[in-house]
Amino acid sequence: MPETDSTATRMARSSDVEAKEMNGVSDPYIREQLEKRRKELNAVLASPVAAAPSATLMELLGEVDSALHRMDEGTYGICTTCHESVEKDRLLNDPLVRLCLDHLTSDEQRALERDLELAARVQRGLLPRTDVRHGDWRVHYQYKPAGMVSGDYCDLIPPAAEDGELVFLLGDVAGKGVAASLLMTHLHAMFRSLAGVGLTLDKLLEMANSVFCQSTIAGQYATLICGRAGQRGEIEFGSAGHLAALLIAKDGVRQVCSTGVPLGMFSTSRYTVQRVRLERGDSLLLYTDGISEAVNASGAEYGAGRLSNIAGERHGWVPQELAAACMKDVQSYSSGRKQADDQTLMVVHRADTVELSLND
Ligand SMILES: [Zn+2]
Repeated sequence: MPETDSTATRMARSSDVEAKEMNGVSDPYIREQLEKRRKELNAVLASPVAAAPSATLMELLGEVDSALHRMDEGTYGICTTCHESVEKDRLLNDPLVRLCLDHLTSDEQRALERDLELAARVQRGLLPRTDVRHGDWRVHYQYKPAGMVSGDYCDLIPPAAEDGELVFLLGDVAGKGVAASLLMTHLHAMFRSLAGVGLTLDKLLEMANSVFCQSTIAGQYATLICGRAGQRGEIEFGSAGHLAALLIAKDGVRQVCSTGVPLGMFSTSRYTVQRVRLERGDSLLLYTDGISEAVNASGAEYGAGRLSNIAGERHGWVPQELAAACMKDVQSYSSGRKQADDQTLMVVHRADTVELSLND
C-alpha cells in the first residue's frame, strides 16, 4: 500500500479533521443519498425503453445495496484495508467510497491529483493581471500558494469609465486546501458581481458579507480588505478583520486599518470606511498572514514590523521592485523551512511624475 503522502492526499485531507475519531458512519443524510441512488438505479433498470440491463448498472446497484447493508451492520465508512474511518467529507461526496485516503489505489490517487490540478488551473484563471495601471495608479501583486491551490484571495477590478475607481481586494479564507480554494472562487464571483452595482464601499462590504453568510456553512469565514483608488491619490477602503495595511510615505510607514469582523461570521455585520491620501511616490501595501507569520529556522515569526522596515526603506520604488524586495526578504528569513501558508502581497502605488515621464 502506498505509504507516501502525495500532495493530492494531503490537500484532500486538510479539509477533514474529525475522521479518525469515528467508527462506523450511520449518517441519516448519507443513508438518504444511498436510498435515492438505489431508487434511481431501479427506475432506470425497470424502464421499458432500457436495453438489456447493463452489467455496469447491476454492479452499481450491488454496491449501493452493499453500502446500505454495511450501514445496518455498523461497518459503513470503515476503510477495508486499514479498518480506520474513511474521511467523512469524501463519503458525503461519494457514498460508495470504501478506502481511506492512505489506501487509495494508484489509479484513484492519480484521479485525485488530476482533480486538484484542474482546481488549481481554474483558480489561476481567476487571478487578475499582475500589473494594472489606472490613472497614476500602478498596482502589482505577488501570489504564492503553499500547495497546488490557495485560500488567499486577490483581485483588481478596473472601472468601466476612465474617471472611475480601481477596486482592489486582498483576503484570506480560513483553512487551506481545496475547501478554502472553493470559498476563494466564491468571493471572487461575488465581488466581481457587486463591484459594478454602484454601492458605497460600506454597503458593498455589508452586502458581500450577507451573501457570503447565506452560502457558507458554519465556521467558514474570510478576512479581506476591499479598497477603491480614485482621483488625486485618494483611497478609501474597508476591512473585514484583515491585517492592517501599511502606508509607505516619504516620512515613514504607518499602519492603516479599519475595523470590521470577517465575512461569513455574522449576517448583520457593519463596516466602516477609512480614507487616506497618497502623495506621489507613496504606496499602500497589503498582505496575508502567510507573510507575517512565516517562521525562521528557530520558529520565530517574520512579523509586520520587519515588513514595515523593509518597505519603509524603499519609498518611491516601483511596485514590482518593492513587492519583489519584500518577498525576497520573507524568503531569505524563512529559508530552509517549507512554506506553511499561502502568501500574497499587493502594492498599490501612486506613480511620481518622473516615472510617469519615463514610462508613459
Ligand atoms: Zn485505510
